[in-house]
Amino acid sequence: MERPHRDVRLLPKAHLHLHFTGSMRPGTLLELADRHGVHLPEALSSGEPPRLRATDERGWFRFQRLYDVARSVLRTPEDIRRLVLEAAQEDAADGSGWLEIQVDPTSYAPRLGGLIPALETVLEAVEDASRATGVGIGVVVAANRTKHPLEARTLARLAARYADHGVIGFGLSNDERRGMARDFDRAFAIARDAGLLAAPHGGELAGAPSVHDCLDDLGADRIGHGVRAAEDPRLLERLAEAQVTCEVCPTSNVALGVYEKPGDVPLRTLWDAGVPMALGADDPLLFGSRLAAQYGLAREHHAFTDEELAELARQSVRASRAPQDVRDRLLAGIDDWLAREPGGSGTSGAPGASGASAGEPVPGQRADGRTGGPRAGRVTAADGTPL
Ligand SMILES: [Zn+2]
Repeated sequence: MERPHRDVRLLPKAHLHLHFTGSMRPGTLLELADRHGVHLPEALSSGEPPRLRATDERGWFRFQRLYDVARSVLRTPEDIRRLVLEAAQEDAADGSGWLEIQVDPTSYAPRLGGLIPALETVLEAVEDASRATGVGIGVVVAANRTKHPLEARTLARLAARYADHGVIGFGLSNDERRGMARDFDRAFAIARDAGLLAAPHGGELAGAPSVHDCLDDLGADRIGHGVRAAEDPRLLERLAEAQVTCEVCPTSNVALGVYEKPGDVPLRTLWDAGVPMALGADDPLLFGSRLAAQYGLAREHHAFTDEELAELARQSVRASRAPQDVRDRLLAGIDDWLAREPGGSGTSGAPGASGASAGEPVPGQRADGRTGGPRAGRVTAADGTPL
């Protein structure tokens, strides 16, 4: 007989890999596009997550094009505030008590009056959202590796300037197959000197060597994705030895064609090697599922027990930049989750954000203008609509 399970949405956890635009609710994308007169391609407007395959250059280009269109609906400070608040509400509903959200302020600078006002708008939105939901939020300023390294340096200086005001880390995103990690070493040095966490993407579209590069050239404290480390046992040993956490995003990996199916994502390989992981949703807008679903996937496709899921959640908290009181609260909450009888009253109530100073732990996340749960109202797409 199958044992009853505890509700993964009630498991307190930290969410360490979520991109700004990619966190948008599908319904919000439609509304903002309508308001600003942005024409959405069918892949973003017709009800299912788009079919993507980013393992070749064309597929990645298409993914980026969709992402750019989605980003273009974020035009005013009000849009930014709404996006961050809803991202925090979704996280709260999925048991996250701490969120680290990645943003490249360059994208919003032209409409918001420059790089500094753009980042300040984001940081103010983060403060408000955190207060409203009880989810602590840190910002990772992410540079784009397809742009010139000097731009990354500018961003690193900007991030450093706000190191004590909401920015907690520095990242590097976009196609790992483009450019060399070491071209960005100066930017990462600036960020690290300011005490920021170094969290570049690696080991997703490119293999294990890209993870070595992140460690050797960028002093990575964490790796965005890192799953391809599974192809190199010595690298796994290295990651385990140094306790470098990989921000693993299983649904994203499958959506982008890095792995064929959920069971192929090497969660067990990393787990068995002792590599810490923090499961993340990456871009739920385009991939159709959020944070708790990643834990559900680990259970369903990789037979993670509740004890193992609790340990995954602990790993996410330990690898975060959450303040000590938040870490203590989340870790205690994880123990409480395990101590509860499985299959019990696990379907209601607020998860990870509860107990936060903000008080009201978002019981109303279904009543705030949304049309459904995190998976409802998802992005619709015509199959393989070419762009
Ligand atoms: Zn990412």
